[in-house]
Amino acid sequence: METKKIEHIGIAVSDLESAKNFYTKALGLKVRHEESLEGMRIAFIPVGNVNLELIQSTTEDGVIAKFIAKRGEGVHHIAYEVEDVSSALEELKDQGVKLVDEAPRMGAHGKEVAFVHPKSSYGVLTELVCNKTTTQKG
Ligand code: ZN
Repeated sequence: METKKIEHIGIAVSDLESAKNFYTKALGLKVRHEESLEGMRIAFIPVGNVNLELIQSTTEDGVIAKFIAKRGEGVHHIAYEVEDVSSALEELKDQGVKLVDEAPRMGAHGKEVAFVHPKSSYGVLTELVCNKTTTQKG
């Protein structure tokens, strides 16, 4: 499989506005895009070729809320851009890598994403993302 680059770094935060303030005011970065997805508020902040993905849970029992309750705020996942998420998943399955998603699903920006289980990626939740704007996958 061809892994192109780190596409974004997901950071779990309890208060999106306050986190955005830090990155924009203290670090001088700009929020490029915000959206709501599956009980989360997400803000994308480009830093050169990579994005920060600040994620706040909007429900008390969401994955991000649970993550923060267990481990505190901080880096939640690292996302790698791949050519094709489905074929990457097939290759990983063949290698016995433990997956969270057996098939691609719709992530932020309407992009195809899938998660690799942190048990197989040395404690770091790993996301695969395809930056193609159109896809034929079902
Ligand atoms: Zn992500």
